[in-house]
Amino acid sequence: MKNQDIALLSSEALKLISQSKPSECNCALKHCLGWESVSDDRWPADQMQSKGTLREPLQDGQTEPSFEEFHPDGTRYDSPQAPIAPKHFPYNRCDVFACQKCGCGVMKYTEYGGYYVDNRVRLFNPELLVDVSL
Ligand SMILES: [Zn+2]
Repeated sequence: MKNQDIALLSSEALKLISQSKPSECNCALKHCLGWESVSDDRWPADQMQSKGTLREPLQDGQTEPSFEEFHPDGTRYDSPQAPIAPKHFPYNRCDVFACQKCGCGVMKYTEYGGYYVDNRVRLFNPELLVDVSL
């Protein structure tokens, strides 16, 4: 499936995906309150339903989405309380899933290092969603 075939999610659509709070998650992803590395064998693919993406089409001359993060209150990349800002890193390269088991919304992207690829996963918490531009 190509990127273009996946629907780009608005903030409103994103909020509707999450049917329960991250704290109520009781599946394999429950520790992913902040960004966590989740290998393919730990990703519960059977119960995850693809809902769309936060990846916007790239602008002319842009080769990948921005790496700028959004932390107005001193949080860090992997803080459980870090705001979810869809236009900022790493949300701007995420696909979004809904867990059929516990009702949680889940964001996922792949980190490409020199010698590895690493899937990062975070439960979606509507209370942390902020709609700010870059
Ligand atoms: Zn779950």
